[in-house]
Amino acid sequence: MCCKLPEIQVLSKPAGQMCTHCNIGVGCDAYEYRPDDCRQFRCIWITSPLSDRFRPDKMGILFEMHKAHKTVIGLVEEGASWKSGRPMRLIMQMVNDGYTVWVVDGTERNLFLPSGETKQNALAKAQTIWGEAWQHRPMLKT
Ligand code: SF4
Repeated sequence: MCCKLPEIQVLSKPAGQMCTHCNIGVGCDAYEYRPDDCRQFRCIWITSPLSDRFRPDKMGILFEMHKAHKTVIGLVEEGASWKSGRPMRLIMQMVNDGYTVWVVDGTERNLFLPSGETKQNALAKAQTIWGEAWQHRPMLKT
């Protein structure tokens, strides 16, 4: 899912479309030359002790951690249900731990703020993380 859901501008890869370098079941056929976006990607499931039940392909949502900004961005697979059950429990746990959580579901952005955080600051951090790509995402719903 990390090679499908994110938009990767340097590869001209749109969000939700499998990267042409992805050799399914084998790996990345451009691994040594993969762009910085791929090198820096931090999947929460890979970098934390979450159980197999929280694997992105089992939940239909891929969470990317931006620790320096205390921000998590969740990318939802088309048609996946994330507003209840395990995905929502994980979101609320991250919010309780002080993280701002964005959930991008198609053209919709959903924002979950931890105590003491403001929408304005959350937006500023998102723009820092995503740069110009942020401007292309049309709707904000909180
Ligand atoms: S370049 Fe490789 S690591 Fe990056 S999205 Fe494509 S297949 Fe995945």
